[in-house]
Amino acid sequence: MTIKLSKTSKLDGILSWSLQALDTCPGSKSDNGELVPACKGCYATTGNYRFANVKKPREFNREDWKRDTWVNDMLIALDSSRYFRFFDSGDMYSLELAEKILELCTKANWVKFWIPTRMHKFKKFEPVLSKLQALDNVVVRYSSDSVTGEILAGKTSSTIFSDSVPAGAFECKAYQNDGKCNGCRACYDKDVSVIAYKAHGVKMAKVIKIIAAKQ
Ligand code: SF4
Repeated sequence: MTIKLSKTSKLDGILSWSLQALDTCPGSKSDNGELVPACKGCYATTGNYRFANVKKPREFNREDWKRDTWVNDMLIALDSSRYFRFFDSGDMYSLELAEKILELCTKANWVKFWIPTRMHKFKKFEPVLSKLQALDNVVVRYSSDSVTGEILAGKTSSTIFSDSVPAGAFECKAYQNDGKCNGCRACYDKDVSVIAYKAHGVKMAKVIKIIAAKQ
């Protein structure tokens, strides 16, 4: 079995399966080819994510999911997990990958899955995303492109804010807990419709400054 999972410091030891950021994120670009604001400041293109030992499993996973036995191997790898995150970096860039994730989430009904994605921008992904969202153990969170708290209508979603928490959103408090979830599991909870993450990092600060200057 060759499954390569990630354990990021934020997630209280919860495992994730990830791909290389931007290369596997077709939803990161707007029609004019420019990165959307949230992706311009993406944490997964800076810091530790630039190291070869972090890139390597992500590049490996890009090929590995294509194996016929990938879903079965993932089921074995998640045998003792209660929570799981797709993706710490990257996105479900392929419909075939999305269908395999659907099969995995359907079979691994003892695991609560959190799936942040921008693939909702592509019509052909609508059926598979709807099927995923209909599973009791899955929260598909449609990521807003905004870094100023704009919220996508009518879905479980997430946004980034810089000043005040958008009305009705649940504020992620990881920034008050040394960058860790610290027992919070709101992202995996279908009853929490919008999660708002406070913008952080030098790169994100620059993006927000440019946006503010244009307004
Ligand atoms: S909202 Fe809760 S579960 Fe989600 S990232 Fe923040 S601390 Fe973790």
